[in-house]
Amino acid sequence: MIESRMGSYGARVAMAWVALGLGLPVAAQTTPTERAAAAEVLERIAALQGRIRPSALGARLAERGDAGRDEVLASAGRWWDAEMEALSDHIGRNPEVGWQEHASVDTLVKVLRHHGFTVETGVAGLETAFLATWDSPAGSDGPTLGLIGEYDALRDVEGPFHGDQHNAQTPVALAAALALKDRMTGDRIPGRIRVYGTPAEEVGPPAKTIMYEAGVFQGADVLVRSHSSNETARARAGFGVCCLNINEVRYVFTGRPAHQLTSWNGRNALEAAVRFYTSVNGLRSTFRPEASIQGVIPEGGVAPNVVPARAVVDYYIRYPDEVYLEHMTRMIDDAARGAALATGTEVAIDRYGEFRDGITLGSMEELYFAYARKLGAPRMNEEPQRPAGYEETGWVTREIPGVGVSVYSSTGTYHTKEMEADGMGPVGHTGFRLDAQIMAAILYDYLTDSDLRDVVAEEHGELQGLLSEYHRRLREVYAPEVGGDGAGGR
Ligand SMILES: [Zn+2]
Repeated sequence: MIESRMGSYGARVAMAWVALGLGLPVAAQTTPTERAAAAEVLERIAALQGRIRPSALGARLAERGDAGRDEVLASAGRWWDAEMEALSDHIGRNPEVGWQEHASVDTLVKVLRHHGFTVETGVAGLETAFLATWDSPAGSDGPTLGLIGEYDALRDVEGPFHGDQHNAQTPVALAAALALKDRMTGDRIPGRIRVYGTPAEEVGPPAKTIMYEAGVFQGADVLVRSHSSNETARARAGFGVCCLNINEVRYVFTGRPAHQLTSWNGRNALEAAVRFYTSVNGLRSTFRPEASIQGVIPEGGVAPNVVPARAVVDYYIRYPDEVYLEHMTRMIDDAARGAALATGTEVAIDRYGEFRDGITLGSMEELYFAYARKLGAPRMNEEPQRPAGYEETGWVTREIPGVGVSVYSSTGTYHTKEMEADGMGPVGHTGFRLDAQIMAAILYDYLTDSDLRDVVAEEHGELQGLLSEYHRRLREVYAPEVGGDGAGGR
């Protein structure tokens, strides 16, 4: 039944996309179950794109004559050349790994304050996160434009290095923000600019989820960010995630210490952890084949002659969709409780990280691409990529519309010394300058064009509804094998 539904809907969806001149969709749905659940939803996304015609919208905005916008483009380039390229290289030469980006943040905060931003550090209880705000002298009752910047380096045996070019992200955001600030001041445009300093992208727990839950992103009407890239590409409208939906869960077993020669006075937490770890291996054949579960036992006791009173098991639980992921996590949680029960210990379950499908907007992606075209960005890939949201945790993209701008910035593979070198050389510098210009132009258009704001709001609202609809259908499809488990999630 699932297969036949997929077949007919799949064909209709493909025809709808082709008829709209949008080419064949690169769906984010990877399993047959997901594709069946998404089929009608994809059809409605195609219809939505047909209605708002994002590429025509992007071309109209990018190609129009607008002196203010042209000045923003030029000014973002000037800020990059004058200050931000050097700042990017400086952070690049002084790499700091996630949660320890103290010097990078100190420097960025100083620069932001120097340019008139009010900066709050330590937001969401994260030492190296910050929120910078600037209000237009014409009043803050216009749109709030948000820019996300990362700055953490990669871990490596030879020491940290910026092999993913995060050193450039905040300087790129700053070049765009300063160009907008100049224009809003000069033309007395009301509104507000916010720069979000988001730490530790490369290590858990996911900082942007924590900041999202703490309400740090509340109030932003739109968000942009940049990232290193091997090509200048944009994503297709819809929802999805770069890799898999992930739950990061730590299971902490607590027993009672005792000398091993009187072990009957103790309760062995390591025993519980080992039972649990083994139970999870036993569950693997119970889960669908796309499941991925990886775990370690980072704590298992202190001395052989002491009954371990504390043991910790840490799992990354992954699945292509979040409904089945909830089911897997529920079963794994139960296995932990079973192990605790069997050993007379207790278990505390700490789900410290969640990555979910994000929302990608055709309107914002095509506007980005229209500017990339206008400015002659290198290595343009005309084929829209799978939707993945503009930030990797997914949560923020569900709440706030936005776009990730990623002009070609390296020939090297991600997370390599080649990418690090390009990040501080001409290939990277050219790409980052374009990122800044494009981000500034997108935000300027959002600020000054109420039609664009309306389209973005309409598209985001409809995709939010379709994402819920997709999850409802997934729960229906999984019901026979997961029972009530599919009702989980937020
Ligand atoms: Zn990255």
